[in-house]
Amino acid sequence: MRHETRRAWVEVDLGALKRNARRILERARVPLLPMVKSDAYGLGVSAVVRTLEGLEPWGYGVATVEEGGELRRLGIRRPVIVFTPLLAEELAGARALELTPTLGDAARISAWRSSGGGPWHLAIDTGMNRSGVAWDRVGELKDILATVPPEGAFTHFHSAERNDGSIALQQQRFREALAMLPAVPRYLHAENSPAVERQSPSPWSLARSGVFLYGGGGEAGAETAPECVASFHARIVDLRTIVAGDTVSYGATWTATGTRRIATAAAGYADGIRRCLGNRGHALVNGRRAPIVGVVTMDMAMLDVTDLDCSVGDVATFLGRQGRAELALGDVAASGDLSPYELLVGLKLRAPRVYLEPPA
Ligand SMILES: *Cc1c(COP(=O)(O)O)cnc(C)c1O
Repeated sequence: MRHETRRAWVEVDLGALKRNARRILERARVPLLPMVKSDAYGLGVSAVVRTLEGLEPWGYGVATVEEGGELRRLGIRRPVIVFTPLLAEELAGARALELTPTLGDAARISAWRSSGGGPWHLAIDTGMNRSGVAWDRVGELKDILATVPPEGAFTHFHSAERNDGSIALQQQRFREALAMLPAVPRYLHAENSPAVERQSPSPWSLARSGVFLYGGGGEAGAETAPECVASFHARIVDLRTIVAGDTVSYGATWTATGTRRIATAAAGYADGIRRCLGNRGHALVNGRRAPIVGVVTMDMAMLDVTDLDCSVGDVATFLGRQGRAELALGDVAASGDLSPYELLVGLKLRAPRVYLEPPA
């Protein structure tokens, strides 16, 4: 293990990120519009974008004007699309940074034009019911779309990771909506990672992948799986032997049924080791799985290491790779009833990001 002078850290494998992006490209066979919102799903937008630039993506997707501004500060000149609806008063700021807003109502399309305008993408809702114009009401925007034509149009899948036919239904609605537009925009996009994993090549012009790049995906129905990108490591800082009847951590939710060896790792929920993993999750110690026992505390989490080698100073891996052993993102998330997305973005900055550079 490298970086062992630290107490806890998130190791980000930029080579794996790059290979995951290539895999998406090979499947989609259209340019990539990587989603780098929320600090690139918590992994650090600067290093992620520096790595993805090598693949010459079409542009990037973010959630807020501030995130778009960060990309401009990093020197990115490619299109940057802001995927959450902007308030009218945010449009001038987006314009000044040459960001591309996503719009779905006449009032804000007019406001965008009044603020100076520029490329924008039409948000079409095909069942998510979160943002954008409803697919069967696009006709109501005909006049404004004829005067302020969008550069692109897109929709978003609500259940692409389930093989439930919803991708096909939403794509059908998207096509029906596109047929109602005065002109078909130059860029059409719909697919998030789970959709690209399930249909190839892309029927659209850009692939809007996020979580797959960062190591999430590959569940049922997926025809490709990502490599692990993020690993969370913490050092063991205390070891003790307890006997039958002794309890561990707050609330005494775990009781030893015999003599047990308990290791304390230097990471807790303030680092992103979620509290719901207490008594349910595992960590890898010397390549073997040790159960997390008792409630995860703010700064420490306890492991039952009775059956394995463990010394103070060893590394406990709560997510990702330790040598040849791995706790997959999806499995860790499932053990805490979390989504892989919230597990990643829940990794706190108290644990510094350590980057493994891709091979030259
Ligand atoms: C976050 C997001 C994506 C990426 O989804 P993944 O499942 O992470 O690939 C794509 N499109 C929109 C609109 C999003 O908000």
